[in-house]
Amino acid sequence: MNKVRVRFAPSPTGPLHIGGVRTALYNYLFARKHGGDMLLRIEDTDRGRFVPGAEEYIIEALAWLGIKFDEGVHVGGPCAPYRQSDRKPMYREYADLLIANGWAYLAFDTPEDLDAKRKEYEQEKKIFQYDASTRGMMCNSLTLPDSDVRQRIAGGAPYAVRFKFPADTEITVNDLIRGTVTVNSSLLDDKVLFKSDGMPTYHLANIVDDHAMKISHVIRGEEWLPSAPLHVMLYKAFGWEDTMPQFAHLPLLLKPDGNGKLSKRDGDRLGFPVFPLQWTDPATKEVSSGYRENGYFPEAVVNMLALLGWNPGMDQELFSMDELVDLFSLERISKSGAKFDLKKAHWFNHEYLIARPDEELAALFAKILADKGITAESVYVARVCSLVKDRVNFVSEMWDQASFFFVAPQSYDEAAMKKRWKENTPAVMRDVKSILTGLDDFSEQNIHDALHHYSEEKGSGLGQVMIPLRIALVGGTFGPDLQIVAAMLGKDEVTGRINRILAV
Ligand code: GLU
Repeated sequence: MNKVRVRFAPSPTGPLHIGGVRTALYNYLFARKHGGDMLLRIEDTDRGRFVPGAEEYIIEALAWLGIKFDEGVHVGGPCAPYRQSDRKPMYREYADLLIANGWAYLAFDTPEDLDAKRKEYEQEKKIFQYDASTRGMMCNSLTLPDSDVRQRIAGGAPYAVRFKFPADTEITVNDLIRGTVTVNSSLLDDKVLFKSDGMPTYHLANIVDDHAMKISHVIRGEEWLPSAPLHVMLYKAFGWEDTMPQFAHLPLLLKPDGNGKLSKRDGDRLGFPVFPLQWTDPATKEVSSGYRENGYFPEAVVNMLALLGWNPGMDQELFSMDELVDLFSLERISKSGAKFDLKKAHWFNHEYLIARPDEELAALFAKILADKGITAESVYVARVCSLVKDRVNFVSEMWDQASFFFVAPQSYDEAAMKKRWKENTPAVMRDVKSILTGLDDFSEQNIHDALHHYSEEKGSGLGQVMIPLRIALVGGTFGPDLQIVAAMLGKDEVTGRINRILAV
């Protein structure tokens, strides 16, 4: 096999969809696995759809996820430039080559002409397609006399260059995931390769660049499968069949419920981001949420996406990037779409969260605390993180589980009070307060022993002591072991909180 060279070739038309991120990831894993190269090429020939900031967004998002490039618009390389608008001058000659070889022709039909034709067909309940059966009645270099064509060009008449599909020909695409896909050319449109604005279309630029950049494998979303027969024919038309890349079309990412492609609307509806980073639309200023800003770890997103459409062939579900590289193979990509699963996304984040060192979690949690005007010793914050991390999926959820380590409860869980705060509880709490005040060494063990001893002596159940004390310290019936909480808060704070609840 020649050197593996793959590319991720997004169009900067907005934020990168999570399905696009998966495409980039699979390309990356494949490149690394085979010691190959990974390229980032920006396909921005459709100026009408260009969105400022999208290219920067794509680069930042992939860097955040640890998807690295050997060559590309941001890192350079031997095939530079890697942005198609910067390669503009080189496409025209390829269009001319196809015209000279009889594989393409000039079409002078105006948008109005084409619209009228479409309407005419619609009236007969037919669909107009510019192809071998219709091109003979249209306004192009195949139907007009040469002198007329020359005159029009000289007069600056706008025209497009269209691919000339041969009539009634079977075209076969060998796809590494889908197998052999055969289509008859009669079903295909004579696609525009070069537009009147002097820009190539995606199809021409994509094939010319994949060839120039020596791409060995085209791994991309299934939505591009219908374009693949044209691409195969373009390789043939250019005489590049021997070096044509192998194709692998990835299954769609599907919405969690029902069928169909995962869309931004599903994300809004079900409360999860469909973009890796937060994005503000430059035109409408509408903000779309991102995995990063929602508190996902990049490793969790990578792990989740790797398994959405690819199967490692084992029960294990947690994989580092290196492990994914090791195991990855195109053969294990499924043909059918993969359903996005929000619960699973949370689970992945939880797993990566609990595996993080407490100090690292503390640094993240400290930012949330700082926003609330709270500063605390980093060792203390790290201990808090170690105590509550099992109960959360995101660092942002830690405050709800741990606020009492930093501020006294502002209110007490009403249901718990009703059920657990008995007539004799104030007296019990006063006893507890004086016992705890008497402890010289306010250690977990001493607090534990003292409370047990007291409840045994009183002959009351342990719950009658511990639960009201817990409500006093944390505000409800949740949280880590009570003696740990009490020891961390310290004697003064604990007695202060008992006083507070007694005063309610
Ligand atoms: N520019 C195309 C896109 O936006 C690339 C498709 C391909 O990989 O060929 O996805």
